[in-house]
Amino acid sequence: MKTIASELAYFLRGRARKNLKVLFIYCTFLVVLILIYAVLFRALMWNLEGREFSFIAGIYWAITVMTTLGFGDITFHTDLGYVFATVVTLSGVIFLLIILPFGMISLFLAPWIEDRLRYRPSSELPEGTADHIVIFGINAITRAFIRKLQALGLPFVVVTPDHDEAMKLEDDEGMSVICGSPTDVKVVAAAKSASARYIIANLSDPENVNICLTVRSHCQTPIAALVEDPEHAGLMHLAGANQVIPLHKLLGRYLAVRSTTCGALAHILDSFGDLKFAELPVHGTPFSGQTLQEAQIRQKTGLAVIGTWKRGKFTVPTSETVLEDDSLMMLAGTREQLKTLESLSGKEEEDLIFILGHGRIGCAAARFLEHKPVPFILVDQQENPSCTEHIPIYGDATIRHTLMSAGFEHAKGVIVTTNNDNTNVFLTLASRHMRPHIRIVARANYEENVDQLYEAGADFVVSNASVGASILLNVLESRASAFLTEGINVFRRSLPEKLIGLTIADSHIRPRTGCSIVALSVAGESDPRVSPPPETHLEAGANLILIGTPEQEVTFDAVFVKD
Ligand code: AMP
Ligand code: ZN
Repeated sequence: MKTIASELAYFLRGRARKNLKVLFIYCTFLVVLILIYAVLFRALMWNLEGREFSFIAGIYWAITVMTTLGFGDITFHTDLGYVFATVVTLSGVIFLLIILPFGMISLFLAPWIEDRLRYRPSSELPEGTADHIVIFGINAITRAFIRKLQALGLPFVVVTPDHDEAMKLEDDEGMSVICGSPTDVKVVAAAKSASARYIIANLSDPENVNICLTVRSHCQTPIAALVEDPEHAGLMHLAGANQVIPLHKLLGRYLAVRSTTCGALAHILDSFGDLKFAELPVHGTPFSGQTLQEAQIRQKTGLAVIGTWKRGKFTVPTSETVLEDDSLMMLAGTREQLKTLESLSGKEEEDLIFILGHGRIGCAAARFLEHKPVPFILVDQQENPSCTEHIPIYGDATIRHTLMSAGFEHAKGVIVTTNNDNTNVFLTLASRHMRPHIRIVARANYEENVDQLYEAGADFVVSNASVGASILLNVLESRASAFLTEGINVFRRSLPEKLIGLTIADSHIRPRTGCSIVALSVAGESDPRVSPPPETHLEAGANLILIGTPEQEVTFDAVFVKD
């Protein structure tokens, strides 16, 4: 089906599109000709033979004569009539039976066949290609990553052994492609791996190990490898990978960390040394419904509220921002400060998380909660052969009885993590319906389903593809970035020379780049200054910790760091 669509798409591009216009004009000409013949037919029949026919009959007659079908049910009986019918037949033969098929063949079929036959997948990148990213293995993650690379204008090449896939990527999607086996050193060389900026290995674990070994036998370009089984990370390093990304484990962690309703300390997402980033659901805290100014979180704890989340929408708050009950605060500060907040937030409720789907990601989420420790119940319709530690409830989670008999009415949070997005939308909707105030964190296997999951009632959606792509982008830019969530990075930069001596207000960092300063670490001070006021002077030797999208991070470097 996809192939037919892509073949049809061929006719909407370039030369074929122009030819389509010619065809349209020609067909209009034929329609007009038939209409003229129909009018003449009626006039001649009436004037020569005194017979009256409808206009539709005229069209019918013109078409049957032009196509040489000539049923013979309507015929002239006069000489002039015969002459007219002969002219119509001859013009039909010329315009419909000769020019039209010939035109179709020469304008569409021949160029299309020629195109298919001419396609030879590229077997080598041009000499001198450098600083590009070589991607082995194309799937939803690398596709999302490629979209980010294209947005940033970074060059890349995809290596695939599949001729058809190569043709589709290169021809239909305009990507740079090398067709060949990823474990063939000649192919690795043809992709100009030695002068590349990074190599991304995104196939199965054994194939990735093989790619690492092949690349290492050729060059020292850094390699980022995704691993399915975190236990293979060591092997991958041994084979030569510089960065190993246990994606399923990370996805499980992102889901788990957002699912609990207990205190901020359980929600530390990432850290820069002593500076921790944590999320806290507003629900259950005394701050619910207050503005940031009224809540006085900074004054009471020293913590900065650097963002708020509501149903997937991240906002950089102002003092007037209201902390809504169903939103989350993103906090920055030290562990001590988070503890202080926890003591202010009231007593912790007993937590209970339902994990729907005990596959690779659900199991990783369970492992994370185990260490917190937060109690959880796993539900799956089948056994997970790679897990011997957990005992799930067996059953189809979409059947109400399965969840209710497992005690779903006591759940405080639910992680929806099956491998089917339709099931995930259904489970999100059903959980929201059964328990309106429950916390729902859902996994999107495909990016296009993220909005649907939010609409179904998820508080937070983690998309495999965009999380994977964001992690890859961070690795690529060798950023000291904390990955807080899709599309938001916290990153550190030493104070650029251009900004030394200015105040934060005069630096115009936010208007020029969109990034905001989260904290300032000053030489000689042990704790970073969280959310420094705009009149703060930026002194040489200081470090900035900023928050922004990956694109804003690149803009920051372009504006302040690079010349
Ligand atoms: P993974 O992609 O490895 O995280 O695996 C997803 C898990 O979801 C598999 O173990 C499936 O058995 C499980 N799963 C899929 N649909 C359902 C369902 N309707 N009820 C319970 N578990 C499911
Ligand atoms: Zn498990």
